[in-house]
Amino acid sequence: MTDPQKRFDAIVKALKENNQRLTPQRLAIVRILAHSDGHPNVEEIYEALRGDFPTMSLATVYRNVILLKSLGEVLELGFPDGGNRYDGNKPYPHPHVICVRCKKIIDPDLATLKDMTTEVAEETGFRILTHRLDFFGICLECMEKER
Ligand code: ZN
Ligand code: MN
Repeated sequence: MTDPQKRFDAIVKALKENNQRLTPQRLAIVRILAHSDGHPNVEEIYEALRGDFPTMSLATVYRNVILLKSLGEVLELGFPDGGNRYDGNKPYPHPHVICVRCKKIIDPDLATLKDMTTEVAEETGFRILTHRLDFFGICLECMEKER
């Protein structure tokens, strides 16, 4: 994981450079995304901040996440069931391991992916722009529960 404080500072810098206002709500959303514990969805970010910002709407959270995504500061993981999840800690493409039971998403530590992109490019002649690599399975905790 990237140092969440470093990611927070980098996202704030990107917002400033794009003349975006740094409201307390926006900074609170950035703080959660800089950590991206478990790759939250918009509803989870909203729930986490509702106590501190009772007047903030779900739409506000959504708009902020989309803004950060457009600045390249948040990676969006879309799924066929419509549940988008977000990673502001590592905003660049990277592999994920997803539990099909509890929907937990974690970042495995893999060093081989750069080589894989190079290999795919060489093999196909494509200029590779991005990639998506998801592993689906059952996490330790869910296996424990099923025993
Ligand atoms: Zn699980
Ligand atoms: Mn991730």
